[in-house]
Amino acid sequence: MIELMDRVICDEKDFKIVKLRKEDIYNGSLILVNKNHKFLGSNLDLIEVDDTYLYKYDQSPMYVSKLMDNSLKELIDAINGQQKMVAVSGYRSKDEQREIYDKSIFENGIEFTRKYVARPMESEHQTGLAIDLGEVVENIDFICPSFPDIGICKEFKDLAKSYGFVMRYSYDKEDITGISEEKWHFRYVGRPHAEIMDKYNFCLEEYMDFIVDFTFDNRYLFTTDKQEKVQVYYIEGKGDNTEIKIDSNKKYSVSGNNINGFIVTVWL
Ligand SMILES: [Zn+2]
Repeated sequence: MIELMDRVICDEKDFKIVKLRKEDIYNGSLILVNKNHKFLGSNLDLIEVDDTYLYKYDQSPMYVSKLMDNSLKELIDAINGQQKMVAVSGYRSKDEQREIYDKSIFENGIEFTRKYVARPMESEHQTGLAIDLGEVVENIDFICPSFPDIGICKEFKDLAKSYGFVMRYSYDKEDITGISEEKWHFRYVGRPHAEIMDKYNFCLEEYMDFIVDFTFDNRYLFTTDKQEKVQVYYIEGKGDNTEIKIDSNKKYSVSGNNINGFIVTVWL
């Protein structure tokens, strides 16, 4: 989530005040990036995918956001999945996304490309928070890798939510996301948000709509994270001066939504 050490402007015994800037709206693990909300983030903190955990699609280095790296490794450890899956695509720059988009139009046509490939600035891969995974097979399809609903891929999918990952594009949400089902595309949103989304069967668009009704001065969304009670609320961004007050003894995280505000998560 957002690194907040330099945002704390007041640190008392009982509470601290964290001052959020406008640019923070566009960073963090809950940012919504799609055709209506282009990626505006700047805070890319990338790390190379560890090939003791995942096979790589080709020889070139692959990167993901540091926000997801540990959780991805923990999830793979949990299913004993070291080197049993292939990482097909992680972070992509705007230019790489454009190249993939143009190449897919050339090779697959516009209809297929619109279904499966996001335009530059509209792809979650530019955030570093998405990864395409699949089973290790001889000829890996770069756009649509094989992700069967059995074996190691099923184990990964079933445990994903407990580690902060969601299958981002499902069949029943195609009219909302505008992207066809992609069993292989996992998005890191963090805990406990992936579990809340799963519980209510929300895609990220729906979750961001849902969460704005829970505010600091109105009501919180309560949930649990590994038996710990957690509160979640939304706060609208007010230029460079959005202040949040947090209990000094509580663990918390903040993410922008890439639209107009922040989601605050506090472990109670
Ligand atoms: Zn993808």
